[in-house]
Amino acid sequence: MMRWLYGIFGVGLVLLLTLWFGVNAQAEAPQAGNELDIWYLSSEQQLTLADVYDNDSVTWEPLQSQRASFGYTKDEYWFRLSIDSASYDRVLHVGYPLIDYLNLYWVKANDITTYKLGDRQPYYQRPILTSEFSVPIPAGQAGVMYFSARTESSMRLPLSMRSETQFFDTQMQKRLAEGIYFGVLLCMAVYNLFGFVASREPEFGLYSLYTLFFGGLMLSLDGLGFRYLWPESLFLQDKGIPIFGSLTLLTAALFAYQLLRLKQYRRTLARGLFIMAGLSFFTLLVGIFASYRISIHVLLTLAAPGCLYLLIVGAYLWRKGFVYARMFTIAWGTLLLSVMAKSLGYLGVIDSMFIQRHAIMLGSGIEILLLSWVLAVRYNEQRREKLEAQQRYNEELEGSVEERTFELQIALRELQDVNAELEKRNYEDSLTGLYNRRYFSQQIEKEYRRAYRSKRPLSLLMVDIDHFKKVNDTHGHFIGDQILKGMADRLKDSAKRPGDIVCRYGGEEFAVILADCSQAQAEAFADRLVTQVRSQPFNTDSGPRHITISVGVAELNSQSGQSTEHLFKAADEALYRAKREGRDQVVTV
Ligand code: GH3
Ligand code: MG
Ligand code: MG
Repeated sequence: MMRWLYGIFGVGLVLLLTLWFGVNAQAEAPQAGNELDIWYLSSEQQLTLADVYDNDSVTWEPLQSQRASFGYTKDEYWFRLSIDSASYDRVLHVGYPLIDYLNLYWVKANDITTYKLGDRQPYYQRPILTSEFSVPIPAGQAGVMYFSARTESSMRLPLSMRSETQFFDTQMQKRLAEGIYFGVLLCMAVYNLFGFVASREPEFGLYSLYTLFFGGLMLSLDGLGFRYLWPESLFLQDKGIPIFGSLTLLTAALFAYQLLRLKQYRRTLARGLFIMAGLSFFTLLVGIFASYRISIHVLLTLAAPGCLYLLIVGAYLWRKGFVYARMFTIAWGTLLLSVMAKSLGYLGVIDSMFIQRHAIMLGSGIEILLLSWVLAVRYNEQRREKLEAQQRYNEELEGSVEERTFELQIALRELQDVNAELEKRNYEDSLTGLYNRRYFSQQIEKEYRRAYRSKRPLSLLMVDIDHFKKVNDTHGHFIGDQILKGMADRLKDSAKRPGDIVCRYGGEEFAVILADCSQAQAEAFADRLVTQVRSQPFNTDSGPRHITISVGVAELNSQSGQSTEHLFKAADEALYRAKREGRDQVVTV
């Protein structure tokens, strides 16, 4: 909301300053020259001074208004004006710079002074170097002046006569206003060019170009371009208006397209703008290659509906609630209003010198300022939106990264579990659930080293079921398996200390590693086991079964540095001795 206030404040300030400047200029400006007695005639043929001078066959008509306008015409116009002598120097001023050929014949008592004016003549030939046409009238000189005028622009000859002081005073006022105006235009063009360089947003560049071309158009209309920028170029003086006019329309259409973001919102409206841009390019070509008379008509034919179209597009989008369209419409409307005011001035509906002189400058100045301001506001807003979107995106990204990390951790844990399970299976005997032979080989090595280092005892039991083949043969393998499982359970139940490891070595043979356990303790453990197996039958599906086991016991002699193979062999030998000596017993090495 604040930025609208700033904008309104800024434009209000410009308006107030201009009005203040205008009122002061009005007050100080000399009254438009003394009422001049002007007569005119028009002719389809070109005439010479001799044809009209003191010739009764031509009819002069009185000119009603000093600002008389005859529109676009091919005819040659002649004006006649009597000049009384005065005691001070004066200047005769033609307040319209676009006359192609303007010849002035000043018939005095004994000679004729001729001035070749008009913008088809080199600028520096003018008797007084102003953007319009001025002729000095020295004190004490009188006579009758004849003007012949031909132009492809509209035919106007707003004549006024001032004292030299008044004339230059008015000129200065005018130049000051023009200086401010073109200064603002140039600032806006350069400022937005910088905006374009910094932001790379095309609308800044287009707006900068639009301002420059519009400035060029105004310079051409005022004759200032011919005076300051291209005094040597009769081509530009002739074609400046159609060329700059076309370029202005072209950039206005493209700028509106960018500013109002028609690409996103309204493709049909955008198409209209492209057509307008294309036609402007066409009028540009016409302006360069065709005569002024043709090109100015082509340009005006496009400009009127084109400007109206821009206004309608703006108003339509404003009604649809687009914020920038509102400012665009107000800006564009201001310009068109000022053009209208100027036209009404021409038609005599509004009779104010100030409006006539400054309406378009004021309107377009406000338009240019408003557009530059809305550009800046829009850019800011766009940047803020972008930042917000970026922030939202970052937050989302962070969230999803967190989520992913979490998922990854879960997957990792699952993987670890699976790994652990796999590892376990790798070391497990599937029938009994005991450790298998592979695990036994690893563990016996580990325990052997630990015992060796810490000089602690380590014992190994080899357990084999007696006549197990017969059990299988008699009761079947299924029952044999059940007994193997029962045997595994009993071994596990007996070897419960942390250092005890029970493995199925193969078939019906088991190995028990007893860490930190002396030979005597191991022997006692084995005795308890043999006794328990003998006394308690195993439950199977075919009823309780009695079996016995034989056990070989060996202890690691840590001092002598035996290897695990020694230990294993010793236990195995003890087991075989137990078998040989009648089974169902414990043998120790
Ligand atoms: P000894 O008293 O001399 O040890 O006689 P034994 O019959 O137990 O010995 P032997 O080594 O001749 O036979 C072992 C039998 O164990 C052979 C095989 O049928 C049986 N056996 C080996 N593994 C399994 C098994 O996983 N399940 C079953 N049901 N029987 C098995
Ligand atoms: Mg056996
Ligand atoms: Mg065996």
